[in-house]
Amino acid sequence: MSIQRNRTRQVPIGNVVIGHGHPIAVQSMTATRTQDIDATVAQVNALAAAGAAVVRIAVDSDRDAEALSEIRRQTTANLSVDLQENYRLAEKVAPFVDKIRYNPGHLYHHQKHLSWQDKVRYLAQVARDHDCAIRVGVNCGSVDPEKRKRYPPHDDIGPILESGLEHCAFLDDIGFSRYVVSLKDSDPQKVIAINQAFAARRPDVPLHLGVTEAGLPPDGIIKTRIAFEQLIGRGIGDTIRVSLTLPNDRKPEEVRAGQQILDDIANGRMRSVVALDPSKLNIISCPSCSRVENEAFVELAQQVKEMTQYAQEHAITIAVMGCRVNGPGETDDADLGLWCGPKRVNLKRGTETIGAFTYDEILTRLKSELDRLIAERQPA
Ligand code: SF4
Repeated sequence: MSIQRNRTRQVPIGNVVIGHGHPIAVQSMTATRTQDIDATVAQVNALAAAGAAVVRIAVDSDRDAEALSEIRRQTTANLSVDLQENYRLAEKVAPFVDKIRYNPGHLYHHQKHLSWQDKVRYLAQVARDHDCAIRVGVNCGSVDPEKRKRYPPHDDIGPILESGLEHCAFLDDIGFSRYVVSLKDSDPQKVIAINQAFAARRPDVPLHLGVTEAGLPPDGIIKTRIAFEQLIGRGIGDTIRVSLTLPNDRKPEEVRAGQQILDDIANGRMRSVVALDPSKLNIISCPSCSRVENEAFVELAQQVKEMTQYAQEHAITIAVMGCRVNGPGETDDADLGLWCGPKRVNLKRGTETIGAFTYDEILTRLKSELDRLIAERQPA
């Protein structure tokens, strides 16, 4: 299955490149105390060993920045830092990292006599001087107050989007193009809406995708998966992070969860309906989990793929879901949907239920519905 990704710019971060023509990179972040150098180095290396292309470290003080110099000495991983309110820490951390993340909403707290433009100009110069990329990280919890004022309180998307676009335009104006953008929220539906809107306006800018405060696995992984399926399935997104609440010794699970989601999307194992190639037959099947009530689901998903080969050139989406918990709702957006119960498989056409059939009957019934749909869509 090939997904047409947006032709984004290529942004080098240490020895990886984020952007078009390069695999979607999985990132992660340490959760140790940065000044605990041994623990932080061990976690950075564990995350990198699990496959994290870039590892972010929180730096909130001069002492954290000092610790970073020693951490840098002890690891070869690509490192990134988050600047919080104290954006001037940039010049202290940049010599030791490959990427600096700033949040437009945090540029209002210190040195209030300076404009945000002055501060971004300074950050871009520090990044240039130290061969760093920048991430413009806009977050639902700390939106630029000037943007927030201009939108009605219920509009969570407008201020985030405007803030991201404005910073891209400014960085372009000052000739700094080595940047990626993230537009994060804790609600996967908002993450989808904001990133789609942004990519429609700036398809050239690499996007770092994530759902903030996704929580504990497995729910946090499911929330993130919903957003990533809809975005990556449409070619949006160049790098990802799955933010999970995990004890320090399990932190590499974040990386593995991200890798698994990417692999599932590439192979059509989706939990939500998305047309990977809108001009062709699209078969998606959920990745399955403990809720599957009949293991015949896995074999059925494979049989559906094989049986429908003849319809490859038709723009039809068929979704095969493993359970009654999410199956009925998640199949609504497919042209034909199957969701599996313990003894029967429910067949739907869009939101309408056609009936429930045994595992032996379902393929024949699906084929006749597929043939009918193809015939109906033939030009007269
Ligand atoms: S549809 Fe059901 S079985 Fe499939 S992944 Fe979702 S919850 Fe699990």
